[in-house]
Amino acid sequence: KRVFPDPRFPDPVRPDIEDLVFFLDSEDPGENAYLFDKAAEVRDIHCGRRMVVRGLLEFSSHCSNTCLYCGLNRNNLRAQRYRLSAEEISEGAALVHAAGIRTIVMQSGEDSFPADRLAEAIREIKKRFDLAITLSVGERSRADYALWKEAGADRYLLRIESTDEKLYRSMHIGREVATRLECLENLRGLGYQVGSGIMVGPPGQTAEILARDILFLAERECDMIGIGPFIPHPDTPFGSARAGGVPLTLRTLALLRLLTRNAWLPATTALGSMDRDYRTDALKAGANVLMPNFSPREVKTKYEIYPGKRCVTEGTGACAGCTERIAREAGLELDLSRADSLKMKTAP
Ligand code: SAM
Repeated sequence: KRVFPDPRFPDPVRPDIEDLVFFLDSEDPGENAYLFDKAAEVRDIHCGRRMVVRGLLEFSSHCSNTCLYCGLNRNNLRAQRYRLSAEEISEGAALVHAAGIRTIVMQSGEDSFPADRLAEAIREIKKRFDLAITLSVGERSRADYALWKEAGADRYLLRIESTDEKLYRSMHIGREVATRLECLENLRGLGYQVGSGIMVGPPGQTAEILARDILFLAERECDMIGIGPFIPHPDTPFGSARAGGVPLTLRTLALLRLLTRNAWLPATTALGSMDRDYRTDALKAGANVLMPNFSPREVKTKYEIYPGKRCVTEGTGACAGCTERIAREAGLELDLSRADSLKMKTAP
């Protein structure tokens, strides 16, 4: 049974799990090309023909969590740990701002920064720069989220990783997806623009589980959705597993574009870190965000979620040329503005 991509079907499309599995499994090049073209068309209509840019600052590699796939997990004794100082965080924000970019994404491992110090850093950035702030620091208490919102944070990224309880437990020992869901609820309730997402292809993920995750992310009206292939890190329990497939990741992205229409969908660094850089391919399949790395050069290699991460040997802020090239190759206008959620509509 085929429901889409078919021009006769309405926008938004409302597929069921079976339809999604059909398209996720389809390896027919013509079928895939059609899916990607349709997704790019829907992106252009609902978001504009543009690629928005967010400056990424990885401000700490410390982590108290035990995600079995992630190189930062606390049991990885070979991981190199660092924490940027308040001055270094401000310098990072200054570089993002000087590049003309109006969003900074501050990411770290979990519990890696005291809440009040992070609040102070947020206040300082807001005082000095015209920047939207996106946080991505994992599961924290509602009180911490409230403190950072109060301090000036605008958005929060927390990937659900998987909505399937069994798969979630197999990737996170002793942790429950319910906690992650509660965090997402708290963030939404506090007025953050909320992003979520998943990895494609971790051990144990089936097309049906992936389809359910896609429906979850679409139905939640996430403002942003991060999708990247799983990449095995040798110093983790999943080190000898197979990497997630690029074509399957691109199909997942395209399906999410068709379902969400106006979510921000990044061409993730993980997609840029495979056998070649697939970020342009992602943009041609409906993605519309790029997140160049503005972490100081000395720490870039230390934030090793997975090996072979793109652009870690380049100087800070050396990404401007590359960013312009990627937008051009994808046929998109470069948009450095803060580009808030397209889902925040005023009531009719
Ligand atoms: N600690 C925060 C959190 O958990 O939300 C933010 C940092 S965490 C390292 C950011 C994302 O990296 C995770 O949500 C996960 O999906 C992704 N990630 C971790 N290990 C990965 C791997 N081996 N391959 C691909 N993506 C990975």
